[in-house]
Amino acid sequence: MSTADTATTPAFKVSSKPLLVRRAGVLGAGTMGSRIAAHLANAGIPTYLFDIAAKPGSAERRSLAEAALASLAQSKPAAFFEPPLARLITPGNFDDDLPKLAGCDWVVEAVAENLEIKTALLSRVLPHLAPHAILTTNTSGLPIHRIAASLPELRNPFFGTHFFNPPRYMRLVEIIPAPGVDPAAISAFAAFADRILGKQVVFARDTPNFVANRIGIAVMFNAATLMIEQGLTIEEVDALTGPAIGWPRTGTFRLADLVGIDVLAHVAANFPQGASSARFSSVLGELVKRGWLGDKSGQGFYKKVRGADGKDERLVLDPTTFDYRPAVKPALPALEMAKNAATTAERIRLLLANGPAKDKAAAFLWRFLSFLWNFAAGCIGEAAADAPSIDAAMRAGFNWELGPFEMWDAAGVADTVARMKSLGLPVSSAAQKLIEGEPTSVSWYLSVGPQCFNPVTDRWEPIYTIPGHARVADFRRANGVVRTNPGASLVDLGDGIACIELHSLKNAIGGDVLSFISSVLNPSSDFVRDFAGFVISGDRENFSVGANLMQLLLAAQEGEWQELAQVIHQFQQMNAAIKFCPRPVVAAPFGLTLGGGAEICLHAARRQLHAETYIGLVEAGVGLIPAGGGTKEMLLRALDAAAALAPTDPRGAGVASDRSWSLGWGDPPSRFAQSAEVATALKRALETIAMAKTSTSAAEARTLGLLTAADRTTMNRERLLLDAKAVAAALAESGYVPPQPRTIPAPGAAALATMETGIYLMGEAGYASAHDQKVARWAAYVLAGGRITPGTLAAEQYVLDLEREAFLSLCGERLTQERIAYTLKTGKPLRN
Ligand code: NAD
Repeated sequence: MSTADTATTPAFKVSSKPLLVRRAGVLGAGTMGSRIAAHLANAGIPTYLFDIAAKPGSAERRSLAEAALASLAQSKPAAFFEPPLARLITPGNFDDDLPKLAGCDWVVEAVAENLEIKTALLSRVLPHLAPHAILTTNTSGLPIHRIAASLPELRNPFFGTHFFNPPRYMRLVEIIPAPGVDPAAISAFAAFADRILGKQVVFARDTPNFVANRIGIAVMFNAATLMIEQGLTIEEVDALTGPAIGWPRTGTFRLADLVGIDVLAHVAANFPQGASSARFSSVLGELVKRGWLGDKSGQGFYKKVRGADGKDERLVLDPTTFDYRPAVKPALPALEMAKNAATTAERIRLLLANGPAKDKAAAFLWRFLSFLWNFAAGCIGEAAADAPSIDAAMRAGFNWELGPFEMWDAAGVADTVARMKSLGLPVSSAAQKLIEGEPTSVSWYLSVGPQCFNPVTDRWEPIYTIPGHARVADFRRANGVVRTNPGASLVDLGDGIACIELHSLKNAIGGDVLSFISSVLNPSSDFVRDFAGFVISGDRENFSVGANLMQLLLAAQEGEWQELAQVIHQFQQMNAAIKFCPRPVVAAPFGLTLGGGAEICLHAARRQLHAETYIGLVEAGVGLIPAGGGTKEMLLRALDAAAALAPTDPRGAGVASDRSWSLGWGDPPSRFAQSAEVATALKRALETIAMAKTSTSAAEARTLGLLTAADRTTMNRERLLLDAKAVAAALAESGYVPPQPRTIPAPGAAALATMETGIYLMGEAGYASAHDQKVARWAAYVLAGGRITPGTLAAEQYVLDLEREAFLSLCGERLTQERIAYTLKTGKPLRN
């Protein structure tokens, strides 16, 4: 397919049935191949990882792939959800192991970016593929049609699948069809990438650098060119192309260092002549020549050195002399003022409101953003079918908050076009068509429909949403809000299910959230009567960072024990409302889910977690223990885990009835309470609480004992809400019965003594400070159900009372108050 006939490419869709990938093959164990293999392992798929055979005739012929596997274990950020997943990857080499590919449903090539190397390897691979297998290439820019044309024996469906680095964390996968490929194969693969790998799929055209790199790198070059023309510094350009406009902190040049300057130079070579200014191209060329390739070689546009005071110092390159000088925080008053804007859209408007003649920031941004907008508009119909695909590619591939057309809408298309003209800047014909068309419009998107303007067809077209993707905001727009306060809202998700959306200031749990959830889920509330089930989730980056520490610290410093006891009571009441709600409540956490946020999840009927959920009972970090019912829930889980191990338990794992503890051990309950199984389960619970362990993925949350066997994970963040809704609906439909408050055999004094010995030994070994030990002893005290006779039957409320006692006592400790104050100030824990 040539650039000329791309306009006739059919519109591809994501199938409802994902490709079944029982085993995958990855060819090339370099940066991308090894990490794609790791992500396949994250998705639970056994994967071959092959590379060149090393040392002919020796026993170490798989050493390249084996070394890649070993270095994956060390990779930062972590490539695996949890280290044991590495066992799903089998290393191999291209000489001995190709016949094994016959067992693969998908084989992806990720060897060096060189047409001859790729086609030579692929032609050796073809005879070994199963007839149904899908073959793809991860090329960043080689024309897919040229690779396909070099493989006359090709019978399998073949196309481009362009992952971004690192594939676990970067959401974008561009799918680039080769000529004549079966659209059903594309759709099925797209569904696999979307649902099983959790990626944002964008269908790209077979044009140089596809979509995201084409735009992202063109604007990086433009930023660099403007820097030279306008006499700005690297730090100034990074500040102007970072969070100020809704882009990541890396800005332009930190991103270049991260990606690798050699990689950038490579992509630049795919651009038509003149896309990068000659002066900047020569800067890139010189850096490559010197081997200053960015982070991987320790220096590029920036360089970190150890200063005389022993602290790290950041130096920055002078691109004219190639000397480094200390980096300085840029002084751009316009950026300081714009910081007060509530949203990125508002900030962009504020930054552009200034006159370019007087303001350095505006002078840069008017030229920079108009270049971006014109360039992106020129890509419609060329690199991708429509503007929404381009916006999605930039959000997922470059982590921009808004895509180029969303940014343009935010700034106001008609106003900016008029201003661009008056400043003598070019205006793309596509934008001209938009504002002059019938009906005339001032934005690319219209909420009615919703639809978007397509300058190629000259029509308003409905926006294609992948079935199963939704955010709470979509339902807010469609259905409005049932009830709201500053901390949370109740939003109707349809089909009888409602979402409690958390949206408090800084995502902390304060009075607003406590009262909202308690009243909405109160058994006698109208909402519980009217809705069949609930989901607790949200649209922010994080589910919740936990209780409002500022409120807590002030009360503790003032000695307001009554008030503190009241707050604990409210927390416990909220979580009881979640747990005992007559309707099923499903927690759908994502991102940071800490302290009180984790406790909310522990009390839900089920958890549907985004794969990237960092959940933990982190209270010990600020010298406290979970007292919203979290320690009690960990005790219940520990007892259930122990009961499930009963040697003669006829009901197998996962029993949860009040008498489960008696099944394997028989009466009296003290036998169970003093069993080795209970001791082991309590030790794990204590470690999770006392060491403030936070999972680095949803998979690890299971290892920490925070989940039950019935809890599930969603790989794609965009699917989390509807997956959780489906779980709530299924629970409701299958006759949900809420749990009753339980009576448990308290582990008691013997278990407490064992835990205390462990804590003492941790202290002796230097792993826990005196205050760490005090906090841990309180956690152990609650987990044991107090220093009582083992097997004493105790109600949940009794354990909650112990939580409150422990929490209040710790709040009165000076060292705890110091920890809270330090965390509030720095965001980090204090070890005192
Ligand atoms: P890399 O250099 O890290 O790895 C390339 C692999 O190819 C190595 O394992 C090497 O052993 C193998 N190889 C080299 N010569 C070979 C030959 N003659 N025959 C067979 N194998 C050979 O490269 P990478 O960054 O992982 O890139 C792999 C592919 O992915 C390229 O097409 C690249 O354009 C693309 N890509 C890279 C990135 C990125 O950020 N690195 C992002 C997206 C796509």
